[in-house]
Amino acid sequence: MDFSFTEEQLAFREQVLTFARKEIAPRAQVHDLESRFDWESWKRLGEFGILGLHLPEEYGGSGADVVTTVMTGEALAEAGVDGGLMLSYGAHSFLCADTIFTHGTQDQKEKYIPKLASGQWVGCMGLTEPGAGSNVAGIKTRYEKRGDRYVLNGSKIFITNGPIADVAVISVTIPVSTVGRLGDRVVTVAGSPYFLPIRLSKRFFRLSRLPTLSGKFLNP
Ligand SMILES: Cc1cc2nc3c(=O)[nH]c(=O)nc-3n(C[C@H](O)[C@H](O)[C@H](O)COP(=O)(O)OP(=O)(O)OC[C@H]3O[C@@H](n4cnc5c(N)ncnc54)[C@H](O)[C@@H]3O)c2cc1C
Repeated sequence: MDFSFTEEQLAFREQVLTFARKEIAPRAQVHDLESRFDWESWKRLGEFGILGLHLPEEYGGSGADVVTTVMTGEALAEAGVDGGLMLSYGAHSFLCADTIFTHGTQDQKEKYIPKLASGQWVGCMGLTEPGAGSNVAGIKTRYEKRGDRYVLNGSKIFITNGPIADVAVISVTIPVSTVGRLGDRVVTVAGSPYFLPIRLSKRFFRLSRLPTLSGKFLNP
């Protein structure tokens, strides 16, 4: 089996390095010191195609393979891109957009993925709760369907991109009565978030936003 990189992959890696060194890395320090999200870098990452790199072209992505996507992350780090911005990129592209692409309905894919892929919208994924981190089965957030809307009740914590997100994938539990004898199960719903963010102070990754979220309402 041949494990070497293709010429295209290596050439793209060089392009990413050059782009990130020139256009993204120089703003890292000031944004880190000021704990400020770097919207200009976000826009440029979107224009370069990085925010939707691995997503299919039919949804506005670049259709890149997994190796190219991983090499791109490595090149961004090598170029000196801030770890907080990388965290925002990861939560946006892999936790939010990927989940919608893999588990979402056709309508959700068409509605959310093109705008996430371009960076026009920011995405987040809310799983962790104040009383449940590693123990996913312990999450308490519940949903109720009211007409064509879902109303969520609960709190989330440590949600990267939470206060700046346009789209959120939120994990909730289904009542036991809905799933029979299997007990509560975790499902995810995607929608436009309405958050009440509380800012947490951080000593690292200060450029990405990581709030506590409570009392959210989501549209399906
Ligand atoms: C920078 C950052 C960004 C994050 N972004 C997101 C995000 O975007 N979305 C999101 O949903 N969450 C996010 N999180 C939350 C993260 O996923 C949780 O912190 C993680 O799941 C751990 O949960 P916890 O902090 O409650 O720790 P706990 O679950 O309380 O665990 C504490 C310690 O106990 C250990 N432990 C736990 N259970 C057991 C067990 N049964 N046996 C042995 N050891 C155990 C753990 O390994 C850990 O060392 C983020 C966290 C950080 C730090």
